[in-house]
Amino acid sequence: MTTVKEKEIIQQKFKEKMDEDELLNCMRCGFCLPACPTYIESGFQETHSPRGRIALMKAVADGLITPDEDFERSLDLCLGCRACETVCPPGVNYGSLLEEARDIIAQNKKYSLPVRAVRKAVFSGLFPHQNRMRSIAGLIGFYQRSGLQTAARKIGFMSLLPESLATMEKVLPNVPPMKELKNRPEFTPAIGPKTKRVAFFSGCLMDTMFLETNNATIKLLQLAGCEIVMPKDQACCGALHGHYGEKDHAREMAKKNIQAFEHAGADYIITNSGGCGGFLVDYGHLFHNNPEWQGRAKAFSSKLKDISEILVEV
Ligand code: SF4
Ligand code: SF4
Repeated sequence: MTTVKEKEIIQQKFKEKMDEDELLNCMRCGFCLPACPTYIESGFQETHSPRGRIALMKAVADGLITPDEDFERSLDLCLGCRACETVCPPGVNYGSLLEEARDIIAQNKKYSLPVRAVRKAVFSGLFPHQNRMRSIAGLIGFYQRSGLQTAARKIGFMSLLPESLATMEKVLPNVPPMKELKNRPEFTPAIGPKTKRVAFFSGCLMDTMFLETNNATIKLLQLAGCEIVMPKDQACCGALHGHYGEKDHAREMAKKNIQAFEHAGADYIITNSGGCGGFLVDYGHLFHNNPEWQGRAKAFSSKLKDISEILVEV
């Protein structure tokens, strides 16, 4: 529950920090509506559409409405998929508006104790630490291979869990043993004549829960004649933090990645995860008030390529 005082502060911050030009860029044409899953799933409610959300942000910044629970819910339900951006004629940068709005809300309201504890555990305690991600993935792998998973499913233990957890458990990928999770190559040579030197962005979840996909990506790059470096100091891309109102944390991770890849001497930085790639390619916007880091962020993003792009090229 957001208090009256917190709402006043949030409103003031909207006035100060939201990019008015970007808000005004939306000409309310509605081209984005059919592309938006939440608009369709909500039964075509304007407040759950990109156009509606932009209008609400603008109304809060202009002091026409207060940032109440309905406003927060409208932003919370947005998936951040940015499907609306690809069809928008004036090219409204919706993702940046959403990130800024969520950051203002998250930084200026006091969440309940359990929510604060979970946010801290996830955003500060888990995702920034790849060794902890590996330990959790290792435990999941053990649960899968030791027979515990089969037994838990047989006795119907899953029905005791909240529905969302039970659903997640059903779709867990097969996680390899801890030894494989830890033993990651920093350098992999090309197979055949070398065409490129590339640096691989391995990702936090991708290099644990989806390790097989990462290994297959490296193999494909090798076969395409690339030598691959995987800087060991790289971090989670920061998308999760950026999308949930933790921009400072996202910036910390972006800085780590920029530094880690600057010295790789690679022609390209390769990602195989659309979610990470969408955030990495836009690192510059995280540093719009910091020219030094913005330049380094743009240099990083200019080298970024999706795996499919590089395979076509080589
Ligand atoms: S397509 Fe773009 S300009 Fe048109 S309503 Fe949607 S966000 Fe606004
Ligand atoms: S980011 Fe996705 S869910 Fe959110 S408004 Fe755009 S299309 Fe809809």
